[in-house]
Amino acid sequence: MMDGLRELYQEVILDHGKRPRNLREIENTEHQAKGYNPLCGDRVTVFVVLKDGRIADVSFQGDGCAISTASASMMTETLKGKTIDEAEATFGKFHDLVTGKVPPGEGTEGLGKLAVFAGVQEFPIRVKCATLAWHTLRAALEKRPEAVSTE
Ligand code: ZN
Repeated sequence: MMDGLRELYQEVILDHGKRPRNLREIENTEHQAKGYNPLCGDRVTVFVVLKDGRIADVSFQGDGCAISTASASMMTETLKGKTIDEAEATFGKFHDLVTGKVPPGEGTEGLGKLAVFAGVQEFPIRVKCATLAWHTLRAALEKRPEAVSTE
């Protein structure tokens, strides 16, 4: 990856890490779950409101590193309005991207801004930071209130 591009990617992640979007609680939703990444100490709670099979609203609260916070922030921006199947498909692609299951520079189509997380491939220890919110989202959709752990 070119250095300029890498800097741009880092900027986007830092921006969302510092000024997370949809950082709020949604009250009275049965779709909420907590997640914990013991490796880094990241904690997140994800809230989802489903309406007619679509994610009408999604938000999070948490305390974590810049990568986990940015990932949660960008996840909420990306998934609003999507169906559960679309959200699952997006998570699948995102997971393949950050775990390096696709060749460098590939596997980003359909991911939009989430493509900035391609750089995580080079830091396997950060994969759990980047995917924590997504695993927690899945638990929230399935109404599994017990804490999700990445370990
Ligand atoms: Zn972390």
